[in-house]
Amino acid sequence: MNIEAPQSEPILAEVVVIGAGPCGLFQVFELGLLGIGAHVIDSLAHPGGQCAELYPDKPIYDIPAIPVCGAQELVDRLLQQIKPFNAPLHLGQEVAELTRHGERFRVRTSAGKLFDAGAVVIAGGVGSFQPRRLGLEGGEPFEGRSILYRVRNAAELLGKRLVIFGGGDSALDWTLALAPRADSLTLVHRRAEFRAAPASVAKMRELVAAGRMRFIEGVAQSLITADGEVAGVRVRQSDGAIHALPADRLLAFFGLHPKLGPIAEWGLELEKKALKVDTEKFETSVPGIFAIGDINTYPGKKKLILSGFHEAALAAFAIQHHLFPQKKQFLQYTTTSPVMHKRLGVPDT
Ligand SMILES: Cc1cc2nc3c(=O)[nH]c(=O)nc-3n(C[C@H](O)[C@H](O)[C@H](O)COP(=O)(O)OP(=O)(O)OC[C@H]3O[C@@H](n4cnc5c(N)ncnc54)[C@H](O)[C@@H]3O)c2cc1C
Repeated sequence: MNIEAPQSEPILAEVVVIGAGPCGLFQVFELGLLGIGAHVIDSLAHPGGQCAELYPDKPIYDIPAIPVCGAQELVDRLLQQIKPFNAPLHLGQEVAELTRHGERFRVRTSAGKLFDAGAVVIAGGVGSFQPRRLGLEGGEPFEGRSILYRVRNAAELLGKRLVIFGGGDSALDWTLALAPRADSLTLVHRRAEFRAAPASVAKMRELVAAGRMRFIEGVAQSLITADGEVAGVRVRQSDGAIHALPADRLLAFFGLHPKLGPIAEWGLELEKKALKVDTEKFETSVPGIFAIGDINTYPGKKKLILSGFHEAALAAFAIQHHLFPQKKQFLQYTTTSPVMHKRLGVPDT
């Protein structure tokens, strides 16, 4: 998580969208068409939610009028589509708190950013993605310091004794990048087979054969500490043998898993870990807080991108009414509306 200095004044926002998955991004578009500005927050370091995190290279076949579209391509197209609205994206920070403040809402992130919003859209999907943890007894206080789940500053690892856990692309990529520059490096993976690209695995085996690093087929067993710091890790090999590996840093790349996390603590009505909404406004049990995409539930709900897009359109109108109840609402077409053309930055025809 980013740790930034806490601000003194909250950032004023018409709308805060929690989640930069496909539905959160399209929400920005639908709000933008109505002349409403949004700030978007996501715990991931990049936009795109499940599409970008879980299946970027897979083709999607059920986006209307696009017979086939790569998942990352869909995210890129959505980012392109919302460009005219210049919505600030606050990435790499989880929304930790959402509280009512009079008629408005206070939204606080794990990075210490505070927003004062007129309405909030929760587009949190299946929750915020969290790294799967190493889970060693007594390890928690060292997480983020000497037990790492992501590399923020590779320079800090140079010349150190490293043990890397995992068998996917992240584990192998960092193994190959750091092995030549670490004091020592051991890769630990519970099986001889890897999920990572075969070329990376072959390169890793070459480094092992050349004596530049070690590979152990096994699992982390316990932490070794000295003077209140991590001094190494015990690893149990598949045949039961125990290795005590001296280490300054343990890096675990076991992938990410979604966790509903703080959303469950905001006092909103839940049903089976999803936010209950109506199907007119997609509003939660708290007026002014809306929920779209995979995070919501209502009779007949289907967790499809297409459904989230429709929900975003109706929620935008409801939000407009929530923010400006006096304003008369009427439907305009992007084809013909000069106002919308102006907002989209396209010439009138
Ligand atoms: C392998 C796979 C294939 C799929 N194929 C299809 C398909 O072909 N067609 C289709 O329609 N759907 C498909 N889906 C489903 C589709 O990806 C989801 O319906 C869609 O991603 C939901 O979008 P979303 O924006 O609601 O949520 P998500 O994509 O889950 O994005 C939610 C975002 O919110 C963020 N977030 C959550 N909580 C917080 C918090 N407290 N603070 C900050 N950020 C937070 C998360 O980090 C995440 O980035 C597929 C899903 C998978 C896993």
